[in-house]
Amino acid sequence: MTNAWEDRKKALENEYFHKKEREVLDKMKHDAEEILAKGYSKDRCPKCGDMIKPMIFRGVPLDKCPSCGGIWLGPNDLKLLAEKDHRGWFDRWFHADSEETSDQEV
Ligand SMILES: [Zn+2]
Repeated sequence: MTNAWEDRKKALENEYFHKKEREVLDKMKHDAEEILAKGYSKDRCPKCGDMIKPMIFRGVPLDKCPSCGGIWLGPNDLKLLAEKDHRGWFDRWFHADSEETSDQEV
């Protein structure tokens, strides 16, 4: 003779563990997808997805995309380039919003 209460308890337990397992599996799947996406996008152009190639421009390391021609800079690279291009168009453009009446070349 089966105990209805015990059966119900077992069913609830199974449901609970099934739900927990599903949560763990979903999280594992999400993490795996994130790792894959990161691995895929590493060293790839954010614009067209092609592999970018490291290059040196005026002593500043840049990443250039051979497909779309996009150039990707590190956080300080733009500043470094602006300093190297002192009094040039790049420097003026870089400081355009901070120094409205900057030194004009003749
Ligand atoms: Zn590109």
